This record gives sequence, C-alpha cells and structure tokens, in this order.
Amino acid sequence: ESLSVAELAQKLHREPSEIIKKLFMLGVMATINQELDQDAIELICADYGVEVEEEIRIDVTDLEIYFEESEETVEGQTERPPVVTIMGHVDHGKTTLLDSIRNTKVTQGEAGGITQHIGAYQIEEHGKKITFLDTPGHAAFTTMRARGAKVTDLTILVVAADDGVMPQTIEAINHAKAAEVPIIVAVNKMDKPTANPDRVMQELTEHGLVAEDWGGDTIFAPISALKGEGIDHLLEMVLLVAEVGELKANPAIRARGTVIEAQLDRGRGSVATLLVQDGTLHVGDPIVVGNTYGRVRAMINDIGRRVKEAGPSTPVEITGLSDVPQAGDRFVVFEDEKTARQIGESRAGEALQEQRVEKTRVTLDNLFDQMKQGEMKELNLIVKADVQGTVEAMAASLMKIEVEGVNVKIIHTGAGAINESDISLAAASNAIVIGFNVRPDVNAKRAAEEEGVDIRQHRVIYKVIEEIESAMKGMLDPEY
Ligand code: GDP
Repeated sequence: ESLSVAELAQKLHREPSEIIKKLFMLGVMATINQELDQDAIELICADYGVEVEEEIRIDVTDLEIYFEESEETVEGQTERPPVVTIMGHVDHGKTTLLDSIRNTKVTQGEAGGITQHIGAYQIEEHGKKITFLDTPGHAAFTTMRARGAKVTDLTILVVAADDGVMPQTIEAINHAKAAEVPIIVAVNKMDKPTANPDRVMQELTEHGLVAEDWGGDTIFAPISALKGEGIDHLLEMVLLVAEVGELKANPAIRARGTVIEAQLDRGRGSVATLLVQDGTLHVGDPIVVGNTYGRVRAMINDIGRRVKEAGPSTPVEITGLSDVPQAGDRFVVFEDEKTARQIGESRAGEALQEQRVEKTRVTLDNLFDQMKQGEMKELNLIVKADVQGTVEAMAASLMKIEVEGVNVKIIHTGAGAINESDISLAAASNAIVIGFNVRPDVNAKRAAEEEGVDIRQHRVIYKVIEEIESAMKGMLDPEY
C-alpha cells in the first residue's frame, strides 16, 4: 500500500507540513502530493506510536453513536435511579439543601463513610436510590447541555418563601424547560416568620408552574433546608416523578455516560467524576472519555470507598486516563484496549483540527441559509431590555412575526444587562440574544465570542422587529 503525504497526514490527523518536516528530519525530501513507500510510512507512524498493521483510520469516532447504540436494547433493562439537579436564585438555599439531604441520608446505611466531594452523590429513600449532581448553579447544567449531554432527569427548583421568584429563578425555569426536564418546586425557608408560600405559588403561575391544588400539575414541596424539615416529603415527590418517567437502563452492557467534572491531580494524574448512564463500569475497562482514553485504574465512590464496579445512575471518580476530559464529555467503554486507544487518538487528532473550524451557530446573517436548508424550524430568541414593560412589549411583537416555515420562539426574557447565563442558554439552545437598551456585561461578551452567539443590540423597537423579519426573509442588508 502506498500513500501520499497528504493522505498519511489525514489518517494521522496531522498537518501535512508537520509530516513533511518529520520526513525531512529523517532525510527524506517530500512534497505534499508525493507517494510514500512502505518504509517511509512505517518510519513516520513509528514516530507517532502507531502500528502500520493496524487500520490507522477509524471511521466512526463520534462517541454519540456508540452512546446511543444499544445492545440487547429493551431486554435486560431495569429501573434506574433518577439523576437530580438543584437550581434556583442565589441564597435561596441550594447548597444548604444539597448538604442537608446528603448529611441526613448518605451516612445512614453506610456507617463510617467519609463524605467525598466528587461532584455528585447518591442517597437511598424507601429502599430506592436517588442521584444528586452536587454542582449547584445553572452554568454546570447548561454547560453539559450545550455540549449535547443530557444527564438530568429532574430539577428541584428552590425558591425562598421569604423572597419569592427572582431573576435566577426564572432563568432556572427556562433552562429546565429548554432541556425538557420536569421541575419540582421546593419552597424553602418555611421556618422563617416572613415566609409566604402562597406568594411563591402565585408568582410561579405566571411562569407556567401551576400547583396541583390550583389545577395545575406542578408539585410544590414546602421545606426548611436549614432545619431539615420537609426533606422526606420532597424526596418522596422526586421518586414519584421519577416513577412516571419510567427511567430504565441495562446494567449488563458496557458502560456509557457523561463526565461531571475532571481535573489534574498532582499525585493521581487525570481524575474524572463520571456519571454512568447505562451499563456497568468496571475497574480495568478500556474507555474513551471525550478526546482522551485509558483503562479505569481505580474507582472511588461518593463516600470515598474504592469500588470495583458502578451501575446505572452511579457517580464515580476514576483515574487512569491519558488526559483530562471536560465536564459534559461523553464516555464509552469498548471491548478491548486497542479499539479504545485508536478511537481516543483519532478523536484527539480531530479535536485539534476542529479547534480551527468555526462553529455554525445561528446568527441573523446565516439564518436565511439555515432556513432554506430546512435546518431551522424555529428561531429561538432571548430578549433582554432595560425595563420589564419593554421586554413584554418586544416579546409580544416578535412572536407575531410570521414567515413561512419558521416560528419565532422566545425562550427567555428578562430586565437588565445581558449576562453569562443568557449566553450559555443561547449557546445550548442555538438562540440569538436581543438586547434593547442594554449591553452584555464583560463575562457575557467574552462568552458570546467564545461560543459564537449572536447578540443584537437596539434602541428602537420597530428596528428590532424589522431586522428579525428581514433576516428571516433573507433580506438582511449585509453589515460592513
Ligand atoms: P444558595 O446560594 O442557593 O446555595 O444558598 P445557600 O444554601 O448558601 O443559603 C443561603 C443562606 O440562606 C444561608 O445563610 C443559609 O443558612 C440560609 N438558608 C438556607 N436554607 C434555609 C432555611 O430553610 N431556613 C433559613 N432560615 N435559612 C436558610
């Protein structure tokens, strides 16, 4: 078999110039289209640690395909624990609730266990397990979703009864809605004399969360995270909603799931907390995690115990990866180490190349093209303005825009500057952000540049409408 320099470069996921340079160092002068003999190919491959006998190029490097692939699909499936995230406005009690649940439940059956913060933990209630992602804040939730990983089955929305619905409460609702994750409302701080749960229920009604008592289908659970009151009832409600969702997984297949967090540890190397979403993960398993790979060397559970295996919905911290993956990366176990290594290396190479390719997020400039290609059925918008009245007026006018084939969908609105959370929601939902008399703050600006999110700033309402409408009709004047 012979290959040109360009073909070899492609198979190795390297730049041709790099191959040419290497050949030069080996005393071979080559041009990009030059055919290389077996010896030269072997020399170069040896340099990259690739054996030529192996098929160098792996066609399927998309982990999502392995992730979705289901052996023995339905057969062998059993119930799995729900994975829960806690969201809400700052200071409404997310951390207190996470700690309270953990302290009262984790240690009961596991005497002597030492709390280990690995980014997630599991508890048992009425003989049923529940997994909590111990990373409060919407950023973690949306980062994962923006990267295509759905991990959460259910969101507990914490609202302080003495404070009511606040901007981040609404953000959280919209994040959960966009991800189609059911919400249970925990009305917190019920121990406070100023607690007013009716007001919370009233305010949430305006955001589509209507209590069962009021004819809706949202569960409201009054709690005091601080005093540990109402927690049992809240957990029962979690189990109830989980049951309706019929969450299933097959413990008999090779594990797959998502990275919750990861970092480089001085002594242990790359350390990653994985959430097993299907199958069972074992020590020794050959694994591809995002753009890295390895063998699971050791596993530690959420109470710091070494474990040999981890089933569906279980979080574990693993070591043994060649590099540090990112939160939200998928992982998949393969049958042998060779396959895992090949796929891992191919992915690492592709990732390097992809860094240079621009992401194709929707912008007003490419909107019409995407619509034409049938890729856009809905234009997602986030609307921010200086005052609430304007927000509502703008949202109402925008929703009236009608262009054949595409609906305008307002996924989030708010008064105040465009913030980082708006951008992460936009990135996760492929939305455009409209700012009326408001600007993005520093973090939002940076995030928008990184993520390629389009922000349109305006000072006149009809201009906003006009701009969106003409973009949808492909009549936007190009900006110079
Ligand atoms: P987070 O920002 O949502 O994580 O909120 P924290 O859990 O840090 O709580 C913010 C403050 O509210 C802390 O001072 C908590 O002690 C307090 N807090 C949380 N839950 C309760 C509660 O149920 N009752 C009362 N009285 N205070 C609470």
